[in-house]
Amino acid sequence: MKNCKVCKETKPIEKFNITNKVKGYRDPSCRSCRLAYMKQYKQSDAGKLTQKKYAQKNKEKIAATHKQWQIDNKEYFLEYTKKYRAENKDKVAKREKTYYLKNKEKIAATGKKWREENKEYLKEQREKNKDKLSVQSKAYYVENKEKCLAYSKKYREENKDKTASNYKEWYQKNKAQVAERKKEWYLNNKERINAQQRKYRQSEQGKISAKKYNQKYYQENKGGTLIW
Ligand SMILES: [Zn+2]
Repeated sequence: MKNCKVCKETKPIEKFNITNKVKGYRDPSCRSCRLAYMKQYKQSDAGKLTQKKYAQKNKEKIAATHKQWQIDNKEYFLEYTKKYRAENKDKVAKREKTYYLKNKEKIAATGKKWREENKEYLKEQREKNKDKLSVQSKAYYVENKEKCLAYSKKYREENKDKTASNYKEWYQKNKAQVAERKKEWYLNNKERINAQQRKYRQSEQGKISAKKYNQKYYQENKGGTLIW
């Protein structure tokens, strides 16, 4: 039996936490007094500061413990997460947005790394979902045309060399296909193209351009055989 210095009650020795196993020391306050004190301390400014400092100092350790706990309690964790997300939609969305804005570059880098490491998998997925994806991206494009155009413009400007060499490479591989498509496109849009060209030739810009072209042609073929 031991007397608690806080509540002054006499309790069995098991009710006091061991503070030093080797020397057999026990806490001078009983377990329920200790818990009450800890609870109060955690809510005090000093307690909060201690916890914050501890968290900063042991970031990795805490994260590892947390992760392990999630693995060990996978089902509970998933269920809990699902429920929490459903009940706190706005809060979660707001937090995710803040997190995204704060970690944009990090997220982009992680995503890029992952995509590079899972190239084969992504290719397979793309092949598998070809039709679905094309419908989806078309729909997205229609709804976000301005955004898409601005994005690809920005991307091209920021990656000039890359896009040029990518295109060149792609073109070399798909030359025949491109020619075929061009032809097809031309045949499908013949009327429109002709109308446009007519309109262009009649415009100021078109007249200037035609004049320039004629001059250039004349310069280049001055010494050549006149064919008219
Ligand atoms: Zn006590």
